[in-house]
Amino acid sequence: MTVETKYMVVLGGGESGVGAAILAKDKGMKVFLSDAGTITPHYAAMLDAEGIDWEQGGHSMERILAADEVVKSPGIPPTAPVMQSIAGAGIPVISEIEFAGRYTDAKMVCITGSNGKTTTTMLIYHILNSAGLNVGLAGNVGRSMALQVAREHHDVYVIELSSFQLENMYDFKANVAVMLNITPDHLDRYDYKMQNYVNAKFRILNNMTYTDAFIFWEDDPVIQAQLKKIKSEAELYPFACERHGITAAYLIDDDENLEFDTPELKFKMPRAELSLNGLHNLYNSMAAGLSACLLDIKKEDIRRALSNFEGVEHRLEFVADIDGVRYINDSKATNVNSCWYALESMPSVATPNVVLILGGKDKGNDYTEIESLVSSKVKTIVCMGKDNTKLLDFFSGKVPEIIDTHSLDEAVDACVRASVPGDIVLLSPCCASFDLFKSYEHRGHLFKEAVNNMRKD
Ligand code: ADP
Repeated sequence: MTVETKYMVVLGGGESGVGAAILAKDKGMKVFLSDAGTITPHYAAMLDAEGIDWEQGGHSMERILAADEVVKSPGIPPTAPVMQSIAGAGIPVISEIEFAGRYTDAKMVCITGSNGKTTTTMLIYHILNSAGLNVGLAGNVGRSMALQVAREHHDVYVIELSSFQLENMYDFKANVAVMLNITPDHLDRYDYKMQNYVNAKFRILNNMTYTDAFIFWEDDPVIQAQLKKIKSEAELYPFACERHGITAAYLIDDDENLEFDTPELKFKMPRAELSLNGLHNLYNSMAAGLSACLLDIKKEDIRRALSNFEGVEHRLEFVADIDGVRYINDSKATNVNSCWYALESMPSVATPNVVLILGGKDKGNDYTEIESLVSSKVKTIVCMGKDNTKLLDFFSGKVPEIIDTHSLDEAVDACVRASVPGDIVLLSPCCASFDLFKSYEHRGHLFKEAVNNMRKD
């Protein structure tokens, strides 16, 4: 009897797709990669070097619909015509992480949530790596997990999982799953139904058993409500500012110390020693510290790594102090909730001193969430977007000054004029960047460049 060679189609020729194609090839499958857009020369060269058949600028449907299985890049929505045809043909679709997970026995530490994923993922990676573990970093940050599984050996993977990635995961199992929070985001991809988004996030718990750990923010009402609805065998490790009962990381001693309390390890450390500031980063540090406790990292190593982590670019990143004004790049704040945490982390002063740059592509934002922090901390809002009508309508009359601008240079000029020594200029836009920029990184880089150029004037 001959065994048919499995025919794998990979959709999307970026980091995850190219890695998946290489892993499939290594495993002896027939592979075809198709991308409706343009594949960068770097990835095209990788595919050619491996002798993998690929196309760009459109999809050859006949070749795609002959697949036994499809690996889909998380950026392609299920509503895309190509996905509809694949669904119609009944071909199973999986994510790159699901695919890679089939070929490794490494421990999986997976991080999801609406905000804080990258920071927490990098922080966990930093703790494990500095403690000497052989760790791979994958998912939305880092390199393709499939490529690492194909060509390297790691004992543990730390994986950032967006809801898009989780949508196409079925048999994958996390050993440690972290859920930081759930607030409305990407609802456009979920029929504007929050429950659909929550369900996608909770797929992280699929297949977990009583030997696995679920670390989550205990005070999140959405997570709590969903936990009541579902059944999971995973051991629960909640974190919160205040200890409620089974809380495994919390503040003590008038909030001066942070304590971790797991069956594996119990220790405390001064909150002031954490290298990342702000309430949101306290949560991220709790989640990361708990993950490390569960992986048997020594308390000295956890404490040291939580205090010397250098932070992640575009997340409350200090840019420069120019003429007494501090400029902060939080370009990654692409939704209202992350801006809330950015504002919350700004020092409380008697008179508002934050000049806040808001605007971009609005994903259905409700600005009431930041209204009270804006009124206590913000002196000027600088709107920076193609169309600022919604921001102007909402915030006019609620802040002493609101300025309408349509480019980064105009916005930075407005910030300079609006600020005096002692003020903070904060780019934390609540919106995606695609109206004026290529990405949030592009927006953050241009902001930093404009600020740093002022130094040279
Ligand atoms: P993600 O990868 O989930 O988008 P990031 O770590 O990149 O998260 O942070 C994105 C933004 O969210 C940052 O600009 C920061 O201000 C905010 N943020 C970070 N951690 C949290 C958290 N735990 N809760 C709420 N907001 C957060």
